Amino acid sequence: MGINILVVDDSSVMRAMIIKTLRMSGLDLGEIHEAANGAEGLDSLSRQWTDLVILDINMPVMNGEDMLKQMRESPETRDIPAIIISTEGSKTRIDKLVKLGASFVHKPFTPEIIRNTINQRLGIGGDHE
Ligand SMILES: [Mg+2]
Repeated sequence: MGINILVVDDSSVMRAMIIKTLRMSGLDLGEIHEAANGAEGLDSLSRQWTDLVILDINMPVMNGEDMLKQMRESPETRDIPAIIISTEGSKTRIDKLVKLGASFVHKPFTPEIIRNTINQRLGIGGDHE
């Protein structure tokens, strides 16, 4: 069974780039879903089984931090591993997101970095089969 991934970013170009990188990474992918902000992301999570969320921080309507907070408050989405891909440089802000259980990948990123981060998260977080 492939990994079902939700990609949340307000830039459609960035989403396409992340998805292309995922396809180049050699990971066994299942379904890939996209959302343009945190609210759409939560909606997507309520509709289909998702193994991993890749999300942006700065987005209109609902940003990545608020989406992550809401995910952690709901029993259905609490344990879904999250990886943030951003140019964010503020250590305070990154630490806050890491405390919410997110891994952090800086832009620009390579397929190897994405693959290693995902493998690590699915290995450590391993309560999904
Ligand atoms: Mg953005």
